Amino acid sequence: MYCTSYRCTLCGKEYRYDGRMLTCPHCGEKGILDILYDYDAIRRDFSRASLETCGELSLFRFAPLLPLNTTDFSPFLRVGCTPLYRTRSLHNVLGVSAAYVKDDGHNPTGSLKDRASVVAVAHAIELGYAVIACSSTGNAASSCAGNAARMGLSTVIFVPERAPEGKLAQLLMYGAKVVSVAGDYRMTFELSKATIDKYGWYNRNAGINPVMVEGKKTVAMEVAEQLHWLPTDWVAVSVGDGCTIGGVYQGFYDLYQIGFIERIPRILGVQSFGCCPFVDAHFAKSELKPALENTIADSIAVGVPRNPKKAQRAVEASHGEWISVGDDEILAAMKVVGNCEGVFSEPAAAAATAGVAAAVERGIISHNDSVTILSTGSGLKDVKNALTAVTRPMPCAPTLEALERSGLLN
Ligand SMILES: *Cc1c(COP(=O)(O)O)cnc(C)c1O
Ligand SMILES: [Zn+2]
Repeated sequence: MYCTSYRCTLCGKEYRYDGRMLTCPHCGEKGILDILYDYDAIRRDFSRASLETCGELSLFRFAPLLPLNTTDFSPFLRVGCTPLYRTRSLHNVLGVSAAYVKDDGHNPTGSLKDRASVVAVAHAIELGYAVIACSSTGNAASSCAGNAARMGLSTVIFVPERAPEGKLAQLLMYGAKVVSVAGDYRMTFELSKATIDKYGWYNRNAGINPVMVEGKKTVAMEVAEQLHWLPTDWVAVSVGDGCTIGGVYQGFYDLYQIGFIERIPRILGVQSFGCCPFVDAHFAKSELKPALENTIADSIAVGVPRNPKKAQRAVEASHGEWISVGDDEILAAMKVVGNCEGVFSEPAAAAATAGVAAAVERGIISHNDSVTILSTGSGLKDVKNALTAVTRPMPCAPTLEALERSGLLN
């Protein structure tokens, strides 16, 4: 393992890496930690060439850049190495020179959250935990439950009542103990925190556990590798808690530090109008204020983000931008991505595409720029909202004559 220390994102204090620290002892719960690596040692042992021949077809290809001692990854669910599609027509619709869609709906439980969960499960096993717990808007929950089930850990999951049925069904199939909290995500998080503190389970809450960003950063590393180490000008990602966008920046940052890439792309953070505390804080130049959670993009409906520092740093340090889009734009984007590229995104995932469209319109992204869009979750997780964006087919009598009369073939 190449981890050397933790550094608090708030006070800057450093602590020796022991694998167990969650937040800064000095700052408390808000003292989110970064995990620091010995980049010189990684540079010595790990290269673009060694990566090419390593034969690992999961995110564990980047194991030297993960906080794990595990060396045998074969028993785990296969997470990562998802396709990156060069778009065939979406870039024309968006008005950019080239676009790529990273389809993380291909992960075993259907979302990017698997990247954090599989690393969390490996980490929990290394530390000897038997129970792993988290609160989630839905995907972290189903992903945690699936990855834990595979490795024989028990899970206790806290979800807000409004979690879509597809995600709930997954949780129950994976055998998780599910606490459906009669309240919003903030209340869900608070209850999970109190319970985990009392019972001493492994805490997979992405807001505070520094290992989660480390898992999620592999999406950026894969994108860079798939683009032959020449990332696009922009990478667009939807933002809820802020852990994913923090991970995207961290992944590019690590690759930059070990000399795999020469430039970190600009990162576009996308939120929904109905819940956009980051966007509001950015334009008001103020601290984050609690926001309502009023959007169909349930996975990014996070009124009180727990990882604001890393998210804000991602946009600032990459010279990126924040943008918000309406639910109508999100639904339209879902249809466009499905139509143009054959990729079915859930609303929160399609928000990234809607964000690119809006950013091009406002001149933030130029027509000469290239963009990578992270499709963070599969549309199959929430078909109810998807069906509101399309017209259901009229039933047709089962004869060719009736079909031709219906006008459907015209
Ligand atoms: C969780 C999630 C996000 C946002 O990730 P955060 O770490 O909460 O910012 C985006 N899209 C999907 C599909 C998600 O599940
Ligand atoms: Zn601190």
